[in-house]
Amino acid sequence: MSSVAEEKVRVVGVDCPACSVAIQRGLAGLGASIDIDLVTGEALVRFDPRKATLRDVARAIRDAGYDVEKRSLTLLVDVGEEEAARFEAAVARVRGVFECRYSPVTKLARVVYNPYSITEKELVEEIEKLGFKVSRAGEEAVEEVEERGAPLAPLASFALGLAAVTLHAGEAFALIPHLHENLYAALAALVLLLNARLLNNGFRALARRSPTMDSLVALSSTVTFAYSALAMLGVAHGATFFEASAGVLGFVSAGKYLEERLKARALQSIRELAELQRGRARVVRDGSLLEVDSSEVKVGDTVEVRAGELIPVDGVVVEGWGYVDESTFTGEPVPRFKTAERRDPVLAGTLLTSGFLRVMATRVGGDTNLAYIIETVKEAQFRKPGFQRLADRLVGHLTWAVLALSAFTFVFWLFSGESVSTAAMFAAAVLAVTCPCPLGIAVPLVTAVAAVKAAKLGVLVRGGDVFEKIVRVDTVVFDKTGTLTSGLLAVRAVHTFNGYSEAEVLKLAGSAERRSEHPIAKAIVERCAEVGVELVEPESYDHVPGMGVIARVDGRTVAVGSLRLMEQLEVAVPREALDAAARLAGATLIFVAVDGRLAGLVEVRDAVRAEAPLVVQYLKREGVEVVLATGDGRGAGESVARALGIEKVYCELRPEDKADLVEELGGRRVAFVGDGINDAAAIGRAFLGVAMGGGADVSREAGDAVIMSNDLLALAHLRELGKAVKRKAVENLAWAFAYNAVLVPVAAGALYKSMGLALRPELAALAMILSDVSVVANAATLLRWKPLLAHRARHALYVDNPFNPIVLDALV
Ligand code: ADP
Ligand code: MG
Repeated sequence: MSSVAEEKVRVVGVDCPACSVAIQRGLAGLGASIDIDLVTGEALVRFDPRKATLRDVARAIRDAGYDVEKRSLTLLVDVGEEEAARFEAAVARVRGVFECRYSPVTKLARVVYNPYSITEKELVEEIEKLGFKVSRAGEEAVEEVEERGAPLAPLASFALGLAAVTLHAGEAFALIPHLHENLYAALAALVLLLNARLLNNGFRALARRSPTMDSLVALSSTVTFAYSALAMLGVAHGATFFEASAGVLGFVSAGKYLEERLKARALQSIRELAELQRGRARVVRDGSLLEVDSSEVKVGDTVEVRAGELIPVDGVVVEGWGYVDESTFTGEPVPRFKTAERRDPVLAGTLLTSGFLRVMATRVGGDTNLAYIIETVKEAQFRKPGFQRLADRLVGHLTWAVLALSAFTFVFWLFSGESVSTAAMFAAAVLAVTCPCPLGIAVPLVTAVAAVKAAKLGVLVRGGDVFEKIVRVDTVVFDKTGTLTSGLLAVRAVHTFNGYSEAEVLKLAGSAERRSEHPIAKAIVERCAEVGVELVEPESYDHVPGMGVIARVDGRTVAVGSLRLMEQLEVAVPREALDAAARLAGATLIFVAVDGRLAGLVEVRDAVRAEAPLVVQYLKREGVEVVLATGDGRGAGESVARALGIEKVYCELRPEDKADLVEELGGRRVAFVGDGINDAAAIGRAFLGVAMGGGADVSREAGDAVIMSNDLLALAHLRELGKAVKRKAVENLAWAFAYNAVLVPVAAGALYKSMGLALRPELAALAMILSDVSVVANAATLLRWKPLLAHRARHALYVDNPFNPIVLDALV
C-alpha cells in the first residue's frame, strides 16, 4: 500500500488550462498530481512522501515556470554554531516548511513555509517540540539581536576565575602562604552560579545529542568541580583543583562576551543603514505643515525637506531644487542636482546637502529602496558559501570526537598508573581546549561584513555565496545596450524611404514607442519632442522582446525595430536602405515600416561607458573570458566589441537566445551582466547573474547581485572583495583547524611523559578563547577593506587618459 500525502498550496501565475497541463507534466516526474483552481490558483497536490517532499513539488512547479505562494518568518533562536546545520535540517523536515536558514552571527533563523499547511503559531510550536528555544518572532527579533548582553556576569566571572588561578599559582611558587580549600571551592561555586545559563545550554544540547562548545565547557568545568568536591570530602583520592573549574568558566564567559562585542561592532553598519529609515518628516496637508513620524507618511503625501535633512521617502521632486548626496546607494560622494522641473526621483535615506525640496511620496516605509536594501543585506547571510556548509557539518562531528577523545584520555592515564586526579585533569583540559566555535562563526561573520561593504561600494549582494561565486567565475557575458554602453541613446539621423518625410516617420515611430521602456524608444520619443513632432496615442501596442514594437497608429500598422523584425514581418527592405545600413556600421539601426513597407531608418548612437575598457581589461588579466551578447545588429555589436577588445561577439539574439547562450557555455562558470531590460532570463540562468540597477531603482527580481551605482567598475570591486572574503575565510578556517590540531594532543598529555608538559584546564580554556576571539577579530578587519587599486584607477580614469596603460596596471 502506498501512502499519499495531500497538501494545499497556492500556485502563482496560472491563468489558463495550459498552465495547469504544464505543471501536471512537471509533477508527473515526481509521481505527484495536482488539481488547480484556475481562478484563485489554489491547488491540492498529492504525492508520496517517501518519494518526494513538498520542497521537490515546489521546485517542479517553479521549473515549469510558475511559483508557489510562500511566506517567511524570522525567529530569534538560541542555537549554538555547532548545531546550526542540524537545526536547519530538522526544521526543513517540519510539515509545510520549504526551507530554513540560520545565521549563527545574528542568531536569526529564516523559515520559508507554505501558509496553507501550517500557521505561524504552529510553526513556532513545532520548532519548540524539536527541542529548540524560540525567543522571539517577527520584526522585534531583528531589533532585539542588536541590544543583547549585559557585561556584569561575564566580567565578574572573569575576575573571580582569574583570582582563583593567580592565588593558586602564587601558592604553587610559594609566594603566598597556603590558603584553605574552602576558599577555592567557594570561588568556583560562585563562578558556576554566575554561568548557570551557559551550563544549562550546554547540558541541554548534550541531552539533545548534539553537543556544542557550551557542552564541552560545561562538562570540563563541572567534572573538575565535582571531582574536587569529592576529593575534599574524602570520597575520592588525590588533589583538588577548584581553580581549574573557576578558571575555565571565567575565561570562557569573558571571551564569549568579548566575541559578542566584536560581532556587534562588525554588524554596526547594518544598524546604521536601518537608522537612516527612522526619524521625523514634515508633511504638507491642507496647505499647512504637519510633523509626523516618517513611518506615518502615506503614498501621495507631499513632504518638505530642508538642507541637511535626510529624505524620508522614495518619491519625485514636485517643488524646489537642491543637491542630494546619494552615497548610501552608489558610494558616489558627489551630490546630484535634483529639480522639480524634471520631476527628478529621490530616494529615502539620501541626504539633501543644499537647497529645498518638496517631494511627493511614491513609496514609503517597508517599500522603499532603502528598506529593500537593508532587508537584502540582512538576508545575504542566510545564503552561505559552500565551504561554510562543509564547516557546519564538520563542527557537529568535531564535538563528538572531542568527547570521545576526552573519555579516552581519562581511561588512558588511569591505566598508565596516574592518579584519578591527573587523569581527570587531562580529560578536562581536552574538553576546554577544543575550539569548534570559529569554524561555525568565522565565515558567516566575514560574509555579513562583506555584504555591508559591498552595499557601500554600490553592489547589492543577495547571498553570501555571491562572494564565493564571483571569484570562481571564468566567463563573463555582457549585454551591450545599457551595460557596456551608457544606455543614454540619442537619435543621430533619420533616413526616409518610399516617399515618407522625416516628420511622418518620427511621428509614427514615436507614437508606436510611447509605451516602451527601452532606451531606444526613449531616444526616439525624445527626438520627437526636440523637433516638435506631436505624438498620438496608439490604438494597439505589442512588443516583441529583443526585436522591437508593433503598434496601430492612426489606422496604420507601424513596426519599429531591428532588421530581424523586418524579416520576420516580411517587409521588403529596398537596396538603398541596405546600402545606407552598411555605410552606418557601428550605429544601432532601427527600421520603421508602415503597413508592410519600409518608411525610414533611424540611426541611434550610444556611447561606450568610460569605465568599460578598464573592466574588460581587468577581467582578461584575471584570465576570465569576456563575451558580448546583444540583440542589436552585427555592425553595432562588433564595433563595441572592437573598441573594448572583446573577441567573442554574438549578435541579433532574442532574450531567450541569450539565456540559451548561457546554457551552451555550460561547463564554464558564467556570469551574465545585463541591464535587466530583456535580460532577466539570461541573468536568472547564469551561474552568477548580475543586474545593472542604476541607482534610482534597484530591480527587485533579477540577479544574485545588483550594481546600484550604475558604474561597471563595481564588478571589478566585487571580485576583489570576493577574493578578500575568501582569504579571510580560509585564514580563519585554517587557523581554527591548526590550533586544534596542535593543542588538542598537548592537552591530552602527549608531551607529559617525554617533557613533563601538561596543559592545565584553565590555561587550555584561556588559549581556546584567545584563538576564538582572534578569529572573530580577524573577520572584523574586513571592515577596513578598500578596493584601493580599483579606486586609484578610477581616479586616474577621470583625471587622466582613460586608456593610460599605467591606469590598467594599477587596477590589476
Ligand atoms: P541589447 O542586447 O543590446 O541590450 P536588446 O535586447 O534590448 O539589446 O534589444 C535588441 C534589439 O532589439 C535592439 O538593438 C533593437 O534593434 C531592437 N529593439 C528592442 N526593443 C526595441 C524598441 N522598443 N524599439 C525599437 N527597437 C527595439
Ligand atoms: Mg540591454
